[in-house]
Amino acid sequence: MAINPLKETLVAKLLASKGTPMRALPESSDWLRMILDETIERDQPFWREQSTFFRVSASGEACERKMTFDAMGHNVPFEARMLRLFRVGNKIEEANVPVFFDAGLLIHPQPGEPQEEVVYYGEGEERLLVGHYDLLIKRRGTDELWLGEVKSINTNNFKKLPVPHEMPLQNVNNLLRTYPRYVMQWTMYAASEQVNTTHGFLLFEHKNDSAQHLYSLVVDEELKASVLRRLMGAWEYVRDIKEQRLAPVPNMRSPEDPRDPVCKWCSANYLCRKMPREGASYDDLRAEDAKLRG
Ligand code: SF4
Repeated sequence: MAINPLKETLVAKLLASKGTPMRALPESSDWLRMILDETIERDQPFWREQSTFFRVSASGEACERKMTFDAMGHNVPFEARMLRLFRVGNKIEEANVPVFFDAGLLIHPQPGEPQEEVVYYGEGEERLLVGHYDLLIKRRGTDELWLGEVKSINTNNFKKLPVPHEMPLQNVNNLLRTYPRYVMQWTMYAASEQVNTTHGFLLFEHKNDSAQHLYSLVVDEELKASVLRRLMGAWEYVRDIKEQRLAPVPNMRSPEDPRDPVCKWCSANYLCRKMPREGASYDDLRAEDAKLRG
């Protein structure tokens, strides 16, 4: 879980402080756990460098305004527990790739090589979308390329996964209901110019007991087109770094409404609701955030 940006927690104060964080720790029998947590949490900035493109991992983001928050570098630090979970997740994902190599299926990445990059261009040489996929394999006995993404998943989310189906398009439709982000992300990797395949899979591994669900997938061109339309819409607000603006609140969204199914989970909600619905400049956004988070 992201650290509540407006809560007066010790960690929030430490993240905002410029001094040596350890000095601010009170004497406590819990001192060691607090130091370990704080050490993991302290290198997370409130603002990262601005970017003029989006990450493929964000291509399933449901809100265009949130995409512009992210491109402008807005960040809400995570609690140590979440960061530890991400760490375990990365290890699970890394551990699966050599199995594909040992099975004689792996094309990319070969052992010791970095993940391959994919790029979509918005206009000319201007980058719209950049990312690195997990693995590309060749189906045994054919020239068919399969793009694979590996996801680690907790118990609650594993239980929500649909039953894997024989038909790839059925898997796409079933997963779109529960995990649209992952399907959109997979689609953008597979259909990129650099990969250019229509086949592949999502492999989910349970974090606790290593059970796996594997879904064969196929590129849905309509889904790809709708993702690209949304990305291009948000991109217009951030493509020029000097003129970056927060996008307007989409018609479907209500940041102030605790029942809004997207806004209630949004880490930028505390700031979004304070900004004009029609959008705002980068400087105005930073100034308001400075008032709220210090
Ligand atoms: S709070 Fe809602 S409208 Fe605002 S950025 Fe988040 S998801 Fe979008």
